[in-house]
Amino acid sequence: MRLNAPFSLPEKTVEYFPILWYTSVKPINGAGAILPGGRTDGMNIFVCIKQVPATNKVQVDEKTGVLKRGGVASKMNPYDLYALETALRLKEAHGGRVTVGTMGPPQAQAIIREAYMMGADEGYVFSDRRLGGADVLATSYTLSQAIRSVGDFDLILCGRQTTDGDTAQVGPAIAEHMGIPHAAWVSRLTVRGDGVDAEQQLQDVIETVHIPFPCLITVEQDIYMPRLPSLKTARQIRDKEIHIQGLDSFLDTDESHYGLSGSPTQVERIFPPETDREHEVWTGPDSADRLREQLRKWKFI
Ligand SMILES: Cc1cc2nc3c(=O)[nH]c(=O)nc-3n(C[C@H](O)[C@H](O)[C@H](O)COP(=O)(O)OP(=O)(O)OC[C@H]3O[C@@H](n4cnc5c(N)ncnc54)[C@H](O)[C@@H]3O)c2cc1C
Repeated sequence: MRLNAPFSLPEKTVEYFPILWYTSVKPINGAGAILPGGRTDGMNIFVCIKQVPATNKVQVDEKTGVLKRGGVASKMNPYDLYALETALRLKEAHGGRVTVGTMGPPQAQAIIREAYMMGADEGYVFSDRRLGGADVLATSYTLSQAIRSVGDFDLILCGRQTTDGDTAQVGPAIAEHMGIPHAAWVSRLTVRGDGVDAEQQLQDVIETVHIPFPCLITVEQDIYMPRLPSLKTARQIRDKEIHIQGLDSFLDTDESHYGLSGSPTQVERIFPPETDREHEVWTGPDSADRLREQLRKWKFI
């Protein structure tokens, strides 16, 4: 965690200091980002988005353990809408570009178009038969290679998790493959100096960390309310190109690192996790007394 000043003060310190001080403590995405290489052309942001079934009643293939996606309507993973909204707001505050990308079948172009309608500048579908059957490790490795093949990014944003695979591991794993720092479950993000202050909602505590660019963040749903796709933009982006890239565009073209052959895990069974947490529900007028009694018993008060 770094707490040093995010900027150097101008020479007229006394005159300007109060304004700068106010800017530094107010949690807005204000100016002042110090980008890698001293660039001043705005933030280069990549958002990972995934197409998921538009229903929570997807069945699992008993033999392979893989979700049966055929014939099921699809949508953008809801958490990725929050990641995209965060990227668009950062771009509005700092300038720059927002690129979105998904690993999936060619039909995943639909969510790229949706992202264009929200304001994304560029979109990629990483689609290749050789990428099929990927587990989390292979998926995150593919995305790390894919992102690298597109360009250098100051910030990579992911949703906290998907509503189908649901592992919440892909974002942090991409960061590991790329060798960059990350923070997960972030509900508040502020650009400060050479990086971001990320407020993470951990299980029992809220923690704020400062991590330098380039970095990866996975966001929670309460970070920002996603904007609606604009009809005006829909007309403007009707013919906007969606880039489709396969394994051959990656730096590492070794097929054994991708898809089923690059996946060390196999799904044996899918089931809700067991929990050892007990709970009681108290209702009625004596609930407060019972709660006080219980807290005393546990020595909390
Ligand atoms: C053995 C095995 C075989 C599998 N075979 C298949 C298969 O054939 N077809 C299939 O569709 N799935 C398959 N899966 C599931 C697949 O591995 C997961 O869907 C994938 O790893 C993403 O994990 P997740 O959905 O839990 O993502 P999470 O970790 O929950 O997602 C977090 C965030 O990462 C980003 N993200 C995740 N996935 C993508 C993506 N594809 N593109 C862009 N961004 C993304 C998003 O920002 C998302 O919000 C298989 C899994 C296993 C274990």
